[in-house]
Amino acid sequence: MTKYIEESNQIPVIADVDVLVCGGGPAGIGAAIRAAREGVSVMVVEAMDCLGGIATAGMMSHWGGRSSSKVMQEIFDLTYEKAQDAGWHHPNWCGKDAIYHDVQKIVLDEMFLKENIRVLYYTHVCKAVVENGSIIGVIVENKSGRGFIKAKRVVDSTGDGDVAASAGVPYFKGRESDGRMQPCTIMFKICGVDYKRAVFPPSFETTVDTPKGELQALAKELLPFPAGHVLLYTQPTPDTVCCNMTNAIEIDGTDAESLSKGVMICRSQILPIIKFLKEYVPGYENCWLMSTASLIGIRETRHFEGIESLSKDDILEAKFHDNWVVRRAWFNFDVHNLTGASLDKTGVQHGWKQNNDYTIPYGCLLPKTIEGLLLSGRNISGSHLAHSNFRIMSVCIALGEAAGVAAALSVKQGKALRDVDVKEIQEIVGE
Ligand SMILES: Cc1cc2nc3c(=O)[nH]c(=O)nc-3n(C[C@H](O)[C@H](O)[C@H](O)COP(=O)(O)OP(=O)(O)OC[C@H]3O[C@@H](n4cnc5c(N)ncnc54)[C@H](O)[C@@H]3O)c2cc1C
Repeated sequence: MTKYIEESNQIPVIADVDVLVCGGGPAGIGAAIRAAREGVSVMVVEAMDCLGGIATAGMMSHWGGRSSSKVMQEIFDLTYEKAQDAGWHHPNWCGKDAIYHDVQKIVLDEMFLKENIRVLYYTHVCKAVVENGSIIGVIVENKSGRGFIKAKRVVDSTGDGDVAASAGVPYFKGRESDGRMQPCTIMFKICGVDYKRAVFPPSFETTVDTPKGELQALAKELLPFPAGHVLLYTQPTPDTVCCNMTNAIEIDGTDAESLSKGVMICRSQILPIIKFLKEYVPGYENCWLMSTASLIGIRETRHFEGIESLSKDDILEAKFHDNWVVRRAWFNFDVHNLTGASLDKTGVQHGWKQNNDYTIPYGCLLPKTIEGLLLSGRNISGSHLAHSNFRIMSVCIALGEAAGVAAALSVKQGKALRDVDVKEIQEIVGE
């Protein structure tokens, strides 16, 4: 690659905060709210125009899995309450874990305003600034130009770990054996579905026999490869269904060209999928495209080296880590097919025998090499298989809460992040 030398440039210091949270998805929400409640100044930098990450901009159907998160329950209750005014149309079909995307965005804005958390939307974190092995802030870019945000502690909740990568924390991508990463998806919503007759297959392993054939098999045969499965979810709004059915493989979410290719592949599948739903799926005969996600759903990219790293066995054996910062985590190993549609053979959704909750130790949030920085959400340290489990949003928000509390305690006590007493974090985040 030929190189262009960028002119050195003086940029303004646009903020000086105790805790800077990069990325406002589930992990970023948990981190910012918890840090603010510990009385430190908090700022969130978010590339999109809303908080929630994949939950909102990514148009996710519902919050899955389980964890010890308290903030998640608050969000559920507030969103459900607000949604009564906006019309939560399907109380019998949708639990509070269903996402009413636009109401969810409003509720998250309100929560952040209440906690005095500063938010910078449409702002991209471009570079971590590290001095003597510690991160001291990040360079961002937005409509105002480039700026430096000085921070005592930084939480990386960008999903891909853009800050940690820029700071030089070692990582690998995807599956250990070959670097393949999980496929990506653009979620979309359709309307005009007849709920009385409609089917809502929630997993790859849900088969539905219809007069025209079995739905998963028909999808595999008829949808444009690598699409080829049927995943449909009820929504709180009338006659609306959230579709998790587009699929692009061999995409690297940290590479701009590859990411753009993934977007175009997924988007090109949407109309053929709707045609398929109308023709083959009972209750969908009159459905129409309502909206598509503005943020593509990237499932997997970088896995960082932490002081500790979560393994498949930690989850399978539900190991209890004394230095836990997340408790009662539960989900299945959700590995989508890395080379086609549906589920990878290592992924299990039904028939999952593990009913015990697992814990996540503090060391998975601490990068091995850099001080002042916390990993949070789907970019904590863990193996490809463990990641397929802890990437679920209920676990990511709990990871954020732990990071927020740890960052705030470390600022207040003037201690390095790795010296914060885990028992104090545990007391605040709760079991
Ligand atoms: C298609 C798909 C379907 C899924 N289905 C479910 C489901 O049904 N239920 C469930 O619970 N989980 C589901 N998951 C998993 C879950 O949504 C994610 O793993 C989870 O949202 C990760 O949370 P996070 O906060 O770590 O990252 P994200 O939700 O990805 O949030 C990261 C945020 O950081 C911002 N950001 C990224 N880079 C930068 C940057 N450089 N500068 C500024 N901002 C930045 C992004 O805009 C985003 O808002 C699904 C994931 C995908 C992709």
